[in-house]
Amino acid sequence: MAGLRFQIIMDGFIPEDPTGTLVAGIKIPKAVASKIPAIRAEVQDIKVFIGNMNRTLGGEDLSLKATYHQCFHDEIPSKPCEPEQEI
Ligand SMILES: [Zn+2]
Repeated sequence: MAGLRFQIIMDGFIPEDPTGTLVAGIKIPKAVASKIPAIRAEVQDIKVFIGNMNRTLGGEDLSLKATYHQCFHDEIPSKPCEPEQEI
């Protein structure tokens, strides 16, 4: 069966900005903060679609992993990151 296979890999760090907008517990630059809710909503929609395809096709290994976490690994003094949250 023909189809489109998406493999989306994005691993980026958005630094805290004290003058930014609060998103998921961290203030991040306003320029990107407004885009995060839309990205999360779109990723959630795609995950639901892929989940439905898994049930329909059975046996196909279709998955999409999308997470975020509050990241403190560069803090001084060092501090543990918060657990990953599913998008
Ligand atoms: Zn981290």
